[in-house]
Amino acid sequence: MKKMKRFGLLLFMTCCIAALAACGSTEKGSTDAKQGSSLETIKKDKKIIFGVKNDTRLFGLKNPSSGDIEGFDIDIAKAITKEILGDEGKAEFKEVTSKTRIPLLQKGDIHAIVATMTITEERKKEVNFSDVYFEAGQSLLVKKGSDIQSIDDLKKGTKVLAVKGSTSSQNIREKAPEASVLEFENYQEAFTALKSNQGQVLTTDNAILFGMADEDSNYEVVGGTFTDEPYGIAVKKGDQELTDAINKALKTLKDNGEYDKILKKWIKE
Ligand code: GLU
Repeated sequence: MKKMKRFGLLLFMTCCIAALAACGSTEKGSTDAKQGSSLETIKKDKKIIFGVKNDTRLFGLKNPSSGDIEGFDIDIAKAITKEILGDEGKAEFKEVTSKTRIPLLQKGDIHAIVATMTITEERKKEVNFSDVYFEAGQSLLVKKGSDIQSIDDLKKGTKVLAVKGSTSSQNIREKAPEASVLEFENYQEAFTALKSNQGQVLTTDNAILFGMADEDSNYEVVGGTFTDEPYGIAVKKGDQELTDAINKALKTLKDNGEYDKILKKWIKE
């Protein structure tokens, strides 16, 4: 009986050790996968998942009739996929907003962000950026005939509409400290708020604002630009292999004229 008990205890302990060892090895496996480059996974799975805007005309806008997302960022993502995987059809898209893009990248839901994202020193602490692939600058969108014609007209009592998680929202607080800022989840919501007079002016990158003025000719972009917003493609912090692969692809696209074709297709001004 005593022997049986001892045998049982031994068996129990062996099982515990085996279970712990298994647990340890899976944990190590997943950590390794997290630390390694996504390029390996991308090549193995033959797909690149890009975080893109779905509500931003000219850059990433969902076409309600086809369900396709269209714009400059989308075509750049497809062209990069063609360079890396030989087939632009291997690009997959997930919606991000200015607020959700970095968390979704860090969670591993997407491999890269191509979503009107400015390269900043602050963001560089959280992600790796590719070389600059588009140069924008912050500006203002107002209803035609508005008294507001430049950043100097944003005074006490002016309500400025902006989007959460954007550089525009941060910048405007510094550049027009007297005005109040109302923040929205995305650009569609912010533009709807402007149309329903929840504020007198909407601020973000000129290129995005031109898309809105294009959609509704009652609105216009005013005041020139008052910041530099160089766009970069973001990947996980430290993933140099994927950063290099994207930079190589961008260089090829610039050298072979493909980049210019995409730029001309979407950006007129
Ligand atoms: N480019 C700016 C930014 O990265 C504004 C556009 C956006 O919100 O995506 O924050």
